[in-house]
Amino acid sequence: MPSNISRRATARPWLIGIALAALALQPPPTVAAQRAPSPAQIQQALDAAYAKYKDLKEGKNADYIPALAKVDPQVFGISLVTPDGKVYTAGDLTTEVSIQSVSKVFTLARVIQDEGEAAILKNPGVDATGMKFNSIVAIEKDKEGSEMNPLVNPGAITTTSMVRGGSADAVWKAILQTHDDFAGRRLAVLEDVYKSEAETNQRNQAIGALMYAYGHIKANPSQAVDIYTRQCAIGVNAKDLAIMAATLANGGKNPVTGKQAIDQRHVPAVLAVMATAGLYDDSGKWLYRTGLPAKSGVGGGLIAVSPGKFGIAVVSPPLDEAGNSVRAQKAIADISDALGGNPYAPRAMNTAAGDVR
Ligand code: GLN
Repeated sequence: MPSNISRRATARPWLIGIALAALALQPPPTVAAQRAPSPAQIQQALDAAYAKYKDLKEGKNADYIPALAKVDPQVFGISLVTPDGKVYTAGDLTTEVSIQSVSKVFTLARVIQDEGEAAILKNPGVDATGMKFNSIVAIEKDKEGSEMNPLVNPGAITTTSMVRGGSADAVWKAILQTHDDFAGRRLAVLEDVYKSEAETNQRNQAIGALMYAYGHIKANPSQAVDIYTRQCAIGVNAKDLAIMAATLANGGKNPVTGKQAIDQRHVPAVLAVMATAGLYDDSGKWLYRTGLPAKSGVGGGLIAVSPGKFGIAVVSPPLDEAGNSVRAQKAIADISDALGGNPYAPRAMNTAAGDVR
């Protein structure tokens, strides 16, 4: 009974004294308690990363899609969005780049939402290939494409083929609507990028044909490749991508519009695939460095999610050998370090202060 306890405590004040002394003698917690960063600290972290990497010249635009080679390599935008819907930005927020492989996350979300997590586990699977995103060897090496995941091309084209809709148009509308819900605005295809990739995507057509031959794509592989190509050409800026990432950080609810883009219960499955395969064959290095589920695209976009804390995105076209934006990886890693974003980094369990994470 609370009244008994308080009566006893007041009756024996020395007991309180002993308890307080024992508390004072306790060893400090083994991990540091961390207050949620203030808005000024968040902005400062973005500004510092922007200043540090603005003039970095490493990496090269993707050029296997001709339109991507023409994008200004100087474009550099950073945005971070918190679950309460605050948007932080630094650098270029107006230039739109093609979303490319970052779209794979949101089409995956659509299919998990409609078909369930078991469907994706079965086909295309959720195992990292450890190979390049458009590797054909990755299809061949294990039982006819069965060691695959939705974030590399064979698995992504398969995932696109699983989106519901009676016609190509209905499938496309479902995919675009899902991207719109995550971004919180109506997005549009960069037609020059779509055209350029559609004219040069013979390799992806071959990948689609193989996945069809092996039974992963059930029908009409060329339609799946075409819709996949279109989804990769959706135009986004750094802020759009950050809101999309923050929607995942916020349990599937867009923190700016308040719309539930995917059921909360499915978010962990999406994040798990991002953690294992989001940066292709460099996913391990990235997770080792940051602990953050993330996804890159050859247009230069990179999103990362710190569950419950923030979604972050950088747009910067020059890529490293694995096809990941150089400046984006560095900037996100620095900012996440500064804000305590790594979900694997232990924090004190003492939540007495109310704002300790
Ligand atoms: N549209 C690109 C392709 O299929 C996407 C690749 C990527 O961003 N890694 O090649």
